[in-house]
Parts: sequence; C-alpha cells; structure tokens
Amino acid sequence: MLDKKALRKYAADNPAPAIPPGHGLLHAPQVDYIVRTAVKSINRRRTLILYIYSCGKAVTGNLTPVWTMFQAGSDYITLARREDGSACWRKAVFKNLDRDYFFTSKCAFYSAQDEQRVCRFFYDGEHGGMAALARAQQAILDKRLQKRLRKREKEVLARISGLPALPKDLERWLRREVIPAYFFYDHARKGSAAGICTACGREFALEGVKHNGTAICPCCGRTMTMKPRGRIGSLFDRLTCQVIQRSRPGGLAVRIIKVHSSFQDGIPQISVWENARQFIRQNADGSIQYDVYYETWDGRWKQGERPVFFPYSYNFYADTSGYVYTRNLSAVLPDTPWQYCPLATYYGHIRQPMHLLPFLRAHLEHPRLEHLVKVGFFRLAYDLAYRDDHGHMLDEIQNRTHRILKIAAEDVPFLRELDVNRETLKIFQGYAGLKDRQRLLRWQLGNNVERDVIQILGHVTPHKFMRYMDQQYAALRQDGGRGRYGDMQHAVSEYRDYLDMCAQLGYDMGNSFILFPKDLREAHNQAARRVKAKADAQTRRDFKAAMGAISGHLDFEQGGMRILLPATPDEIIAEGQALHHCVGGYVDRVAKKECIILFLRQCEDVDKPFFTVEVRGGKVVQVRGMRNCDATPEVKTFMAQWEGRVLRDKVLSNAA
Ligand SMILES: [Zn+2]
Repeated sequence: MLDKKALRKYAADNPAPAIPPGHGLLHAPQVDYIVRTAVKSINRRRTLILYIYSCGKAVTGNLTPVWTMFQAGSDYITLARREDGSACWRKAVFKNLDRDYFFTSKCAFYSAQDEQRVCRFFYDGEHGGMAALARAQQAILDKRLQKRLRKREKEVLARISGLPALPKDLERWLRREVIPAYFFYDHARKGSAAGICTACGREFALEGVKHNGTAICPCCGRTMTMKPRGRIGSLFDRLTCQVIQRSRPGGLAVRIIKVHSSFQDGIPQISVWENARQFIRQNADGSIQYDVYYETWDGRWKQGERPVFFPYSYNFYADTSGYVYTRNLSAVLPDTPWQYCPLATYYGHIRQPMHLLPFLRAHLEHPRLEHLVKVGFFRLAYDLAYRDDHGHMLDEIQNRTHRILKIAAEDVPFLRELDVNRETLKIFQGYAGLKDRQRLLRWQLGNNVERDVIQILGHVTPHKFMRYMDQQYAALRQDGGRGRYGDMQHAVSEYRDYLDMCAQLGYDMGNSFILFPKDLREAHNQAARRVKAKADAQTRRDFKAAMGAISGHLDFEQGGMRILLPATPDEIIAEGQALHHCVGGYVDRVAKKECIILFLRQCEDVDKPFFTVEVRGGKVVQVRGMRNCDATPEVKTFMAQWEGRVLRDKVLSNAA
C-alpha cells in the first residue's frame, strides 16, 4: 500500500528547471501532454514519479501537473487534479488516465533524461520509456488477476471438496449392471457355441448363437448381445452414471461420472472419471438451493453448467443425466431431508439414465411423490418431477391414494395397471361416476382418442358411444376413408360436431334416430347444410325487422338526388358488387342493428347504384361511390342537407 499522505507532498513539487512557455514541445501539434519524471525515496521505497502537464495550460504559464503518477514496487497510484483545483486519487494504469484511446501517443517526455529515468527504474533497456511503463503496469495487472483466479478456484475447491471417495465397487457395479453386456464366442457350430458373459464373467454354452443376436444370460440375467471374438476390438461404449453422497450442511452431492468401456483381448477396460458435481440442499426457510460445478479440460473446477459449443446437439460430456448408483442410498439418505425419498424404488423401476436434481427437488416440493412411487404410479411421479404446471391434477394434502388422485377407490388398481400419466388421469377424473368408465378409458387409449369424448357423453352413454364409433369407423374405413377419417379421433370429432349441430337445430336429443344415424358422414353433412340455411333465414328475418323500423322516415329528394332503403340483403350485396366495394359484408351488421345502409341514387336513373351511405349512431360515417371513391362536392352538400333535415328524426337515432 502506498502512503497517500506522504505522496501528496511530492505531488506539489515541480522538477526544476520550469518549462519555459516558448519550449518547442508545447507547440508541437501531435503532443498534448508533457511528461517529466523523478525517482525519489518515499518512506524508504524507491518511487518513480511521473508529472504529466497539459500543453494547453503550460503555454499560459500554468505549471500544475494534471496527473501525478507514483509507481513503487508492485503498486501505482495517481493524484488527479480537477479543473477547480481539487484533487483525487485514481488507480488506473497510465494509458487509461485519460479516456482518449490514443492518450499514450499524445504524451511526450520533456527530455531524454526523463525517459531514461523510467527505463532505468524498470530495468528495461529494450523498450522506450512509455512501453517500459506500460509493460510493467500490465505485468502487475496480470499478476493481480492470477491471484484473484487462484483465490476463486480455492473457494470453489473448498465448496466442492470434503466428499468421501467414490464407492469401491463402482466399476464392478458398472460392469455387472450398467455397461452393455456381450456374449463373446469363438465359433458357432450349428448355432451353438461356448462363450463368456461380459457382465458376470461366467462361461457357458448357448444355442441359437448368431452375430448381433440377443440372449438372456442364464447366470446374471442381463440381456447380452452376441459377438464373435474377432469383432471384440471395435466395441466401444460410453455412458454417464451418478453417485449420491452426503455433503456437509445436511445437503446432498451428486457426482457425475463419465464411463468409457472397451475390450482388450476380451478383458473389459473401463475408464471412469468424474466431470461434474452438483449440490442440493434445503435452506432453513424451506427454499431449495442448487450449486453445480464442472471440471474443465485442464483439470480445474468451475461453478456453473459446462459450456457447450452448440446447444442443440447432444454433448456427451455436458450430459448430466445418468444411471444411478443406488447401493449406498440407505446409508446416505438418513438424517437428510431425503430420508424417505423413494429414489431407489423409482430408479429400480425405470432403470434408465435420469436427472437427479429435479427428482430430489420434487421430493421436497411434492409431499405425495413418495406415496405415488410407493403405490406404483411411476409416470405420475415422473410428471411431478420433470414437467411443470401441475394444475389441480392431484390433491396433495390427502393421504389415501384415491383421494390424492381424485378418483374412486375401486379405480386405483385399474389406473396403476395402466401406469397413467397426468393427461390420462385428467381424462379419467372427468368420468367420475360414469358406468363403464374403465372400459371407456381403455378403449380411448387403444384408439388414441384424446379429445371430444366428454362432450359426447353429455348425450349418449359410454357403452353406446363406443359401440357406435366402432361400427361407424369400420364402415368408414371400408369406404376408403377418403382422408377425413384417417384415425378414430377424426371420427370421434366428427360425431361431436354432428351432435352439437343437432342440439343447435333443436332436434330431439332423446331420439336414437337422431343420436345414432346409420351413416355418420351423410348425417353430419346434412346437419351442416341445415345449420347454414337456418342461419341465413334468421339473418333475413332480422334484416327485415331492422329495415321495417325505419322505412318511410328517411325518404328525401333534392337537386336530382334521392335516398333509398335496401329492401333485402340481396340488394346490399348487389350494390357492393356493382360499385366494387365491401358493403356486401355489412348485411349481418344491419340485421343486428349495428348500422344502417342506405343507397344514394340519381333521380334520372334510380335503379343504378351511385353512392352508398353508412349511418351509425345517428350519424353519417361513410359515403362511398365506385371503387370506394369519396363523395363529390354535390353529394356532400346533399348529404349535409339530408342529415340536417331528416336524420335528426327520433325514429332513426333510436334505430341505430
Ligand atoms: Zn452374465
């Protein structure tokens, strides 16, 4: 640490002799700052002092340095003077004293001695004074960075260390239970051969031996791939496994182990190395904390996820999902928040690589995870751990299985046998109380039907629904299907459509002729036509009523022009077609009394479309002629008079 108080005394010093205002450097255009130097012993430390003057100020006789930089040992500091004469300390290196990127090149030493003093101070005979200074300061920065990195690494090591050694039987476990098993044989005669199982190492003879065939080992029960000994050399497997250990404050450590396996002369060669470490613990407030670390290629440990070059392709070394070593769990989990975590049961069921952190987290966040695994609902447990947004699928404050699943007690064995996921459970929850609900769910799963069933069940029973769909689907398929009935779901959706339309048309939904038409497709198309016709008829009626309310109140004629009312929707459509604008689309709005459409015609040819008028809220909002053109001055005058004299009519402002 430099002694600022001592340094400050020297900052006021000016090396003699003073710079004369006429000195050539002060007027050199490429020089903005002049640097003078001195070496002093300050507090018994050899200290280099750089006085940096602004040429602009020196010319006016102001010889106060803008910056005074002190360099001693592995430290440097600068006293900067502000415009108002006050001063402050700065820690920047020389080239960063000013914001100017070319600052150093705009500085010049006052004399050769000033520069030599710098070179001698740094024992640097090879570079100029500025370069020697810059190199020395950069070396100091590098050293400080190294120190910081070492400190950070030490902290990381301190956080991830303290774990026991990996289990002694890890390699044996990998070979016997995880790494793919092979049956190595010499040569097969009539399909039978003697050979060895790589998982358990036992020798025995097998029938039906052929290259790449599979068989179950009679000794250890693993599924083996058969390989003639000549092919062994090219076998290579790699995989990830995980070991859970206890970490210091009541948390768990998950050690990600990478495994390479090959064979040399039939003997398995397994290389095992740890490349990531994950920590999970529960804080006192119940929140869950993860810390993840990975080992870099040069053997250092860093915090975070392993960076990958291309995030969308598989990267074996960054993959933290693996097979789980469960043999130590009964010793590791007690006295931690995971004491009752059903991991061993769950993994024993799936036997696939898995991510451990989400599962460990789910155990703390979903108190019923343990129950579901114990009872045998593995897919629901998976959904809880690995999929977000559980909605209100489960009642997690209950203790009985059927209450948790929100179903009837007698349905529990049925759903467990199906190992339902949450989509299926949700469907089944909707069938509460229905007869034949189990058969219906099986039928649905068998036919890949996910939608529309519950709506159909509003009209027909599950039994009749399934019977009808099976029969219709078979007929439709025989008929060639024509793409529309590619699968059962399409047929079911069509049936729902049909029933919806029947209800809309006011049909008798208790009539089995209506509910189960002989030809679903034909009945559907017919109903669709009726719905459309009904909608048109309704619009016509409404339109007539809307027009009737205003007819006779809006007539007006002046200056050879006159206002007419359309009598039918067809007239509006014809007007739009004749004038090439979009009034044809306004029929519905007129029928709903949202607006009024009127025709402006010339008296000499009353039948020829001229301008179209839209009135909304008792006001003319649009007057459009051919191809949407605007009103002419004559038309505007006419409309203004019509608005003033007729439109104020009470009937009209009530009507629209
Ligand atoms: Zn075996």
